[in-house]
Amino acid sequence: MTKTDVRQRVEELRALITRYNKEYYEFDEPSVPDAEYDRLFRELQQLEKDYPELRSSASPTQKVGSQPVSAFQQVQHEMPMLSLDNAFEQDEFEAFAKRVQERLDSASEIAYCCEPKLDGAAVSLLYENGKLVRGATRGDGQTGEDITANVRTIRNLPLQLAGDFPQRFEVRGEVFMPVQAFEDYNQKAVERGEKAFANPRNAAAGSLRQLDSRITAGRPLHFYAYGMGVVSDDVALADSHFQRLQQLAGWGLPISAEVKCVTNAEGCAKYYDDILARRHELRYEIDGVVLKVDAIKQQQDLGFVSRAPRWAIAWKFPAQEEMTVIHGVDFQV
Ligand code: NAD
Repeated sequence: MTKTDVRQRVEELRALITRYNKEYYEFDEPSVPDAEYDRLFRELQQLEKDYPELRSSASPTQKVGSQPVSAFQQVQHEMPMLSLDNAFEQDEFEAFAKRVQERLDSASEIAYCCEPKLDGAAVSLLYENGKLVRGATRGDGQTGEDITANVRTIRNLPLQLAGDFPQRFEVRGEVFMPVQAFEDYNQKAVERGEKAFANPRNAAAGSLRQLDSRITAGRPLHFYAYGMGVVSDDVALADSHFQRLQQLAGWGLPISAEVKCVTNAEGCAKYYDDILARRHELRYEIDGVVLKVDAIKQQQDLGFVSRAPRWAIAWKFPAQEEMTVIHGVDFQV
């Protein structure tokens, strides 16, 4: 490719990815499968790596999600809500683990917290004095949409916490629609002559971003916590991510039963294999596992790049490829 060809391809990829982001994040209606999106995203990342002069802070590779929709009130995140770097192959994951080891300059074992990568929508929930006071989408990572009335309708999400919780804190996690509930909901929708959802991820994201919370209340949504945002300093937090998740669970917030603490890259690889083998037994859809350096001090030492932490990676499962197509059925978002 000549330099002009490369420049043109970069522009083309940026325009395509920006369009797909809008369809996926703003309208909850993707027009291409995730695998295709991921291929284009990687191609753009590679070109920007090979041709540093074409890099731009406006490129979708430097951004998170998409802008919040104006129909909702906006919420400024006190701590940005980032994305995750991805590994698609074992050697990519191993390269990540090696970088972690080198950056930490550590010859000793590294503990990782391993979690299923839930395929739903990220939310931030703010609790004050144990009461759920605000729910927000990730949006573009800096500004999200206020969906407080909608998250209040999620049945496994406590409106009031118990125990010795911080006076003010933010929990982050995924809202998803369990597979059986998704199938039942779709079947009933078709019987009623309504549109069916394309997949559980769209069902969750679309249900969460309704302007009328009574509609959200009729959707079988669930929530699992996977992290914390801002936290007041009146309660001591554990110095391990895994233990912090246990603290959240102790205050009444649901976490996945599949969360595990392991040692080094080998432990992560075993976890990946185990979850991949049991993927279809889980009651919710996942598209990989998330592996996080467990020690908070090590997370702080590793820090962040523009759109993702350096201490975590999403190791994706082989693509289930192409989009769900149910003949003769209309889809809704
Ligand atoms: P991501 O989904 O790859 O990773 C970040 C997200 O993972 C977080 O925001 C969170 O919601 C989720 N997550 C689930 N379990 C988690 C856990 N245990 N810990 C932490 N986070 C967890 O990144 P993204 O920026 O949300 O989306 C990018 C992906 O979305 C792409 O790789 C692609 O698959 C898909 N996408 C598809 C299209 C399309 O047109 N098909 C468009 C845009 C994005």
